[in-house]
Amino acid sequence: MLGGTPSTRLAAAESQLSAGGIVVLCEPEAATASKADLVLAAGQATPEAVNLLITHGHGVLYALMSAERCERLGLSHLIERDSERWITAMATSIEARVGVTTGISAADRARTLRVAGDPGAGPDDLVQPGHVFPMAARRGGLRARVGRTEATIELLALAGLFPVAASCELMNEDGATMSVTETVAFAAESSLPVVTVGDVLGRRLEASPMLLAAERRVESATWGPLVESVVTTFDGDPVHRAIRGEGTRVERIERVHVLDACVLGDAFDACPEGCGERLRSAMDDLVAGENSLVLHLAAGVQPADPSLTAALAVPVLVALGLDLERAIELADPGRSAIAPDEEETDR
Ligand SMILES: [Zn+2]
Repeated sequence: MLGGTPSTRLAAAESQLSAGGIVVLCEPEAATASKADLVLAAGQATPEAVNLLITHGHGVLYALMSAERCERLGLSHLIERDSERWITAMATSIEARVGVTTGISAADRARTLRVAGDPGAGPDDLVQPGHVFPMAARRGGLRARVGRTEATIELLALAGLFPVAASCELMNEDGATMSVTETVAFAAESSLPVVTVGDVLGRRLEASPMLLAAERRVESATWGPLVESVVTTFDGDPVHRAIRGEGTRVERIERVHVLDACVLGDAFDACPEGCGERLRSAMDDLVAGENSLVLHLAAGVQPADPSLTAALAVPVLVALGLDLERAIELADPGRSAIAPDEEETDR
């Protein structure tokens, strides 16, 4: 229902942002309930644009910025807000030190945003608290966390803009979050380009884009009912296969066994490198343990360095529907060797 392709959407969004315009950034494409933001390069914020943002965003106006910019501005009281599976760093609200009156008007908030988005402005140009709410993207951007904040900052970078954006969450008149259909209709009505977090992430994974091509139930004579996911590129090569137990939901996966394809091992259990044994023990674990996945990489693509195997597995796991951060955690062989009980992190 979204018009165009990711690259035409990205190109339209980039040129709109460069011209000081507003774009709609939404996530995820597949969900029925969309989460969409109106986004604008902060350095180019005008009272009119800010008025449009707060009218359709019903209030809270964010200044999304890179972690580096947040630090450079010396913004205090960073808190970690756990929203569903994402964690976002929010700082105490800000106001331009000069050039504003109460700070709440669209003109005053536009002024605050322009200061936050001015490469020459520093901590002395802002005061806290105020009427604009800064939120910092994770260091490492979309590779560290797949969220709208990171996608917004990367989108600005693609457009060659300074990494501070004005952003408001789109809402319906009744205050409810817009569905994808409503978001798309709103954007068309307002002549605003729509771009998704996936579009921006896709650009990042372009070096090795992976897609879920097919998913089906298979009956193994040895291991019982399984789900096979075929993950491949646009042109169908290479083809990786992910196998999980019939009842295992992708988002619940806690352990991934990454295996290299080996005809000698897989077909004849005769590989001197122990491939057959690794496959059997991974499958046994899948059947016995809960929530594990066997990722069988296509023949001929496995790199010698295990860390590169992990890097190869990440886009495959993302194609299965895992978020990037989780995919990175799961694909890392050092981590997947750790028993779930010991896997407590301090995040
Ligand atoms: Zn082998």
